[in-house]
Amino acid sequence: MTVGIIGGGQLGRMLALAGYPLGLDFVFLDPSREAPAGKVAPVLHGAFTDPQVLKWLSRECEVLTFDWENISVEALRKHARGPRRARICPPPPALATAQDRVAEKRLFERLDIPTTRWRAVESGAALERALREVGLPGVLKTRRMGYDGKGQARIRTREEAQRAWQTLGGVPLIYEEWVPFECEVSIIGARSTRGETVFYPLNGNVHADGILRATRAPYGPTRWHRNAVEYLTRCLEHFHYTGVLTIEFFVRQGRLIANEMAPRVHNSGHWTIEGSATSQFENHLRAILGLPLGSTRPTGHSAMVNLIGEIPARDWLLEFEGLHLHDYGKQPRPGRKLGHCTLVEASATRRDRLTRRLLGRLAPGVRLP
Ligand code: AMP
Repeated sequence: MTVGIIGGGQLGRMLALAGYPLGLDFVFLDPSREAPAGKVAPVLHGAFTDPQVLKWLSRECEVLTFDWENISVEALRKHARGPRRARICPPPPALATAQDRVAEKRLFERLDIPTTRWRAVESGAALERALREVGLPGVLKTRRMGYDGKGQARIRTREEAQRAWQTLGGVPLIYEEWVPFECEVSIIGARSTRGETVFYPLNGNVHADGILRATRAPYGPTRWHRNAVEYLTRCLEHFHYTGVLTIEFFVRQGRLIANEMAPRVHNSGHWTIEGSATSQFENHLRAILGLPLGSTRPTGHSAMVNLIGEIPARDWLLEFEGLHLHDYGKQPRPGRKLGHCTLVEASATRRDRLTRRLLGRLAPGVRLP
């Protein structure tokens, strides 16, 4: 059984690594000759919109999935759909919603999931109106193609708003209120083609400059987890979803406020490879292939720290007892996710002590709440 994956980044590579023990084969589509998945599976090189490759993949594969969301829904619909074509999982409407921050906010509102106050901004006048109606401080973001904090500017004053408009304007934007959150969390769950669902424990996430730095799980009181599962369930049911879906939240005065969703395996779930009975990668594959979903039971108190911009000396990292290193084999570049490491400990106290030591070296200035 062959799974076609659009996008051959680290997420795709970890999907393939999780799928081989199940007897699955993989083929990727990625424009880059250096795609991380290329070390573990065949990669067809072409644009994500390449009609020939998309047609070939959807004819030859059992199912098509993707490892990042900035791919063309239009091209998928046009070239990869048809009676004798592979199923596309997760469903394209979920992908289309996650690609547009405004569509995402409307979905949250429609499903009664608390989210930030926001206004769409398509002109200078609309920005003025948004500033008046939502207030300051806020954040101006591109509606599409934003990731890892790219395409967004924090707005504290009207002057900053004007400057951000000069830099970001020209494409559709969204202005959101700034949430002075106590912490950030995310929930990851999977729904299979049979309608079975599973949910992982809540992740506690720490970002710096819009990029995820560290995750700890299980995190937070049971009530947060219950609320997050309820919100995620509404989204899964709304789309008759298949595969892994993630929602990120801010926590403010004990309330969860949805920030965004990702229709794919997620960086905040990397700890599940070593820290859960079944990883998010394996469960994504089981879900899209209609196989029984695996237990999401945590095997301890896990932490994941991202390796960004550079990979420190292997010797130094591997000296940490119990540390698991994942090097994605990417060329170093400032701000680029190159790998991650995971710890699974018997107690949260020991896990946090070791994580603080790791962060002290890898991301000085990043503090765990
Ligand atoms: P995003 O690309 O929307 O996930 O934003 C990346 C990170 O920037 C978030 O995880 C937060 O740390 C921060 N951020 C984004 N939007 C807001 C907001 N409205 N209020 C506070 N922090 C935000």
